[in-house]
Amino acid sequence: MNFKIHRGTKEIGGSCVEIWTDNTRIVIDIGMPLVEKDGSEFDFTKYQKLSPNELINKGILPNIDGLYANAKNLIDGVLISHPHIDHYGFSSYLHPEMKYYLGEAAHKIIELTSIFTPQQNNIKNATYFEKSKPFNIGDITVTPFGMDHSAFDAYAFLIETNGKTLFYSGDFRGHGRKQRTFKWFTHNAPKNVDYLLLEGTQIERNTKKDTTEADIENELANIFSEKEKINLIYSSGQNIDRLVSIYRACKKTGKLFVIDIYIATVLKELSKHAAIPFPSKNFDEVKVIFPYFLCKRLASENNEKLLYQFRKFKITKEQISSNKSNIVLLVRPSMKFDLEHIPNIEGGNLIYSLWEGYLQKENTQKFIEYLSNKQFKLYKVHTSGHADIWTLNQMVSAIGPKIIVPIHTFSGDEYKRHFNCPVLEIRDGEEITI
Ligand SMILES: [Zn+2]
Ligand SMILES: [Zn+2]
Repeated sequence: MNFKIHRGTKEIGGSCVEIWTDNTRIVIDIGMPLVEKDGSEFDFTKYQKLSPNELINKGILPNIDGLYANAKNLIDGVLISHPHIDHYGFSSYLHPEMKYYLGEAAHKIIELTSIFTPQQNNIKNATYFEKSKPFNIGDITVTPFGMDHSAFDAYAFLIETNGKTLFYSGDFRGHGRKQRTFKWFTHNAPKNVDYLLLEGTQIERNTKKDTTEADIENELANIFSEKEKINLIYSSGQNIDRLVSIYRACKKTGKLFVIDIYIATVLKELSKHAAIPFPSKNFDEVKVIFPYFLCKRLASENNEKLLYQFRKFKITKEQISSNKSNIVLLVRPSMKFDLEHIPNIEGGNLIYSLWEGYLQKENTQKFIEYLSNKQFKLYKVHTSGHADIWTLNQMVSAIGPKIIVPIHTFSGDEYKRHFNCPVLEIRDGEEITI
């Protein structure tokens, strides 16, 4: 078995690993970078007009034969570990007949993201795998292991061929709502693998253990219990664990959880895969608002039917205003126009529930400034989607790899300090034979 990390040995985001034998060639993840080479935020709009070849020459797209729209002999398949754009974002450049292997719910999230946001994809030829069930691509055997991560339907992969083994950790943690999934993994992990490609997003932040999603739920409930205030919460529509924490904090404090049609659609679809609250008779404390610009766009793109499905659970701006002390409203910067049309909400709470780094984004700053001018009090309530050092060590002890290779990290040089087994730091594009 041979492998090459095309991106990720020295950065977080843009993950892409190619693995091949004499007969079979696969790719794990085809992510969009999160940072430019100089460390600034990756801005894809700068590159959108370039062809795949130009993007390869600039080092933006990974240089892999048989992957892109103009390829003659396609590779045997692309595995997607989870529905975050730094793991699937460049799929829009791949050949339309490319064979993908991913979780069914992950595919649903990716499809909905294409409808509700500008992020496109080209995943049409999809085969859905199931956790812990091995399958073959040519002479390579893949076993997906379910992981606890801030993305829904996330997996690590065991790759086996000709008696050699590689384990790709994907993105994971042990303090989310799937703690038990991670615990199960530590008891059932493959042993003595040759190479462990281990994510290290948080490896340099190793001072304290991460707070759990259950702690986040309690923190939110405390804030929600303040009297006479509306609660606006800015979180990611893709972080389902967090949406569940918010919902549970609403239940504890007797609040209505108000979400927009984008989040409502995501929750409704995912409720087919897990016990998740969504606007329905069974969850009558979940209400839906219809953001003006989003609705206008959906209607113009022939997606009106998405607007109709939640009519029964609609809450109007007037109802929100007159009932404000009972409301927890999920917001994002693009909803500023709608907030401007809800009267008398000044002096509420604004809870920022995302990674602190995104606070540098210009539209986030403007949004927070707008609400600060309306006397909103800012709270920050968040925990990472990635493993702390204790959890990383639990994975390493469970697997007992012969060699660890750093991936999805800015601090590969830190690994040696933390793990009791050999670490091999490699460069992007370096070929390794196992
Ligand atoms: Zn990632
Ligand atoms: Zn992720």
